[in-house]
Amino acid sequence: MRTSSAQRQRLLLEAEGAGQVAVEAEEEGGALWFVPDCCGVLCAAVTWLLVLFAVFVVTFVLLLPSGGSVHAAVHGLGFNGLAALALAAHLRTMLTDPGAVPRGNAARRHGTDLQLLPGQELSKCSKCCSIKPHRAHHCSICQRCIRRMDHHCPWVNNCVGERNQRFFVLFTMYVSILSGHALALCGYHFISCVRLQWTECSDFSPPVTILLMIFLCMESLLFLTFTAVMFSTQLHSICSSAAVRNSWSGDTWCRWAGLSSVFGGPPSLLWISPFAGLKLPLFPWKRPRRGGAEFSV
Ligand SMILES: [Zn+2]
Ligand SMILES: [Zn+2]
Repeated sequence: MRTSSAQRQRLLLEAEGAGQVAVEAEEEGGALWFVPDCCGVLCAAVTWLLVLFAVFVVTFVLLLPSGGSVHAAVHGLGFNGLAALALAAHLRTMLTDPGAVPRGNAARRHGTDLQLLPGQELSKCSKCCSIKPHRAHHCSICQRCIRRMDHHCPWVNNCVGERNQRFFVLFTMYVSILSGHALALCGYHFISCVRLQWTECSDFSPPVTILLMIFLCMESLLFLTFTAVMFSTQLHSICSSAAVRNSWSGDTWCRWAGLSSVFGGPPSLLWISPFAGLKLPLFPWKRPRRGGAEFSV
């Protein structure tokens, strides 16, 4: 809802008293975050189970029966490594504060943190009673306004916003590579089994092997389509928003600037690491928290 200048003045005056809330919210940025949504938790658990199912089939049905060959070792290490990176990126997306705006009003001295533009009208969210920064939207599931909110994804049980978009992009990237790898291994193994007339190609019986491979192929095709589309959409969104901000539409530097703002810093291997900037809270019980949709774990 838009506010008049009198209302804005009143909000800012009220905000001076709420300054402590904003300071605490800044400290919350380093703490873990979790959205207690049953549907989201179920979807996130299903995501993990599907990835672990793919790891099981690839390792114990497709690769291990071929013995200690170089082929099995290379693809086994590669696939399991990619699965670990995908699950790590999923955890980081789910347990990172997406950029929640502090509840209540923001103090005048925190105007810079709220990314307010010169002359910009303040907008107040009537649902969580916070002053919304530019490009922030309210999420009814997280029950908070989220900075640079892209969407709420039940598969990661969290909003995708300013602070966790990089991990969501990495998650979609690793899952699409993982799905492509699984499909290629399935195709290769199917041809090998046909050549061997389904003898010595699996520790399981031929019907079970075929059933597991069909499930893996269907899952991989579904995941590959979904995550590849999501990955390209996210990249396009990041690059185009930077182009609009800088009014240099189509400029290569602008695309890099957009990616740098999301992934943090100049291009490096850290961009593809889901562990970048990880700070484990050694003594989480010592950190004071106030109510909200999230809590420390
Ligand atoms: Zn809100
Ligand atoms: Zn949300």
